[in-house]
Amino acid sequence: MDKLPKSIDYDSIPVYYCTQCLSLRIKGVPGSKDMNFCDECNCASIGQTDIFTWEELYQQKYGYKFLNKPKYKNGREH
Ligand SMILES: [Zn+2]
Repeated sequence: MDKLPKSIDYDSIPVYYCTQCLSLRIKGVPGSKDMNFCDECNCASIGQTDIFTWEELYQQKYGYKFLNKPKYKNGREH
């Protein structure tokens, strides 16, 4: 992890996300480039954007930034 270069332009990296639950856990169907679906809710409404835009969408939906989660009060994410 810490061997990654520090100058990555995160805001220019395209990400695929689920437009329903905003998960970034998108699964692809082997052999088909256009068939992707969400690993969380299994829907096939996949959008593409950059990480900044996605983070804003995520914050609007859940009320906090994915990358800046508030402390885990119960020790668990869910
Ligand atoms: Zn989903």
